[in-house]
Amino acid sequence: MEIRKVGVVGAGQMGNGIAHVMAAAGFDVLLNDISEEALEKGLATITKNMQRGVDRGKMDQADMDAALARIATTQKLPDLGETDLVIESATERETVKQAIFEDLVPHLQPHTILTSNTSSISITRLASRTDRPEKFMGFHFMNPVPIMQLVELIRGIATDKPTYDTCLGVVEKLGKTAASSEDFPAFIVNRILMPMINEAVYTLYEGVGGVTSIDTSMKLGTNHPMGPLELADFIGLDTCLAIMNVLHDGLADTKYRPCPLLTKYVEAGWLGRKTGRGFYDYRGETPVPTR
Ligand code: NAD
Repeated sequence: MEIRKVGVVGAGQMGNGIAHVMAAAGFDVLLNDISEEALEKGLATITKNMQRGVDRGKMDQADMDAALARIATTQKLPDLGETDLVIESATERETVKQAIFEDLVPHLQPHTILTSNTSSISITRLASRTDRPEKFMGFHFMNPVPIMQLVELIRGIATDKPTYDTCLGVVEKLGKTAASSEDFPAFIVNRILMPMINEAVYTLYEGVGGVTSIDTSMKLGTNHPMGPLELADFIGLDTCLAIMNVLHDGLADTKYRPCPLLTKYVEAGWLGRKTGRGFYDYRGETPVPTR
């Protein structure tokens, strides 16, 4: 099936990145958010990031103008009914995602493929609440979307082959690489990454090391480009906690229990870079560890 128009739900850090790469690859994009401010901020981020690409000689000005012209925004979810593929990238909360799919389904064309950029929630369960479980799958981008090469494609129990092949074709058109994952909690990348981040928070919580020691150890000791706490701030601590809860609930194993210190940061609203404070304080010129 040919995909021409892509709907993106949620214009946050992932949604605007998805709209960016889709438009740059020639797809028409309709970007939706409940917040007008998020849509404005999302478009501003896309423009800034594309301009950086032009300044570095990675993109022509004419291509940037054409890509931006392919992006429209809307606060009305039913407008996405005219798209061929929807990528839901709203807040990582199952009730939020379920409500979005419930509201969207009556407006969709029969051929439209529904996907979610969820980091961890069951694709099979999300799909079962729609009218098209066979045309539903996980389309999981990495952050930052314009830079990261991988897309995890997750098949729910009912996902059919034409749907998978169509999404694989979209990933190839984006110039990215797909990895196929079965539908188990947090899939592949986060099944491995999040317990490591959670363990780093436990290491901080138990006083084994401070923020700087932990991040320096993992950067210089294991050649990771970012320390786990810096990475957690980058991802968003609310998202990290949500994924740990999905692993804990879904696999029913205490080894996945979220660290109480992670919960405390989220309760404080210290969600990382996006709120200006997490394991580091970003409000000054250089990030300062908060512990
Ligand atoms: P974010 O908080 O930056 O953005 C979420 C956006 O969703 C917000 O703009 C919010 O206004 C919007 N939203 C909330 N409810 C909505 C609704 N009913 N309709 C439309 N928009 C709504 O979050 P994010 O980091 O962009 O994460 C989005 C999704 O991407 C989550 O499912 C997350 O697990 C996944 N994801 C995140 C990362 C990451 O590193 N942050 C990586 C891969 C996947």
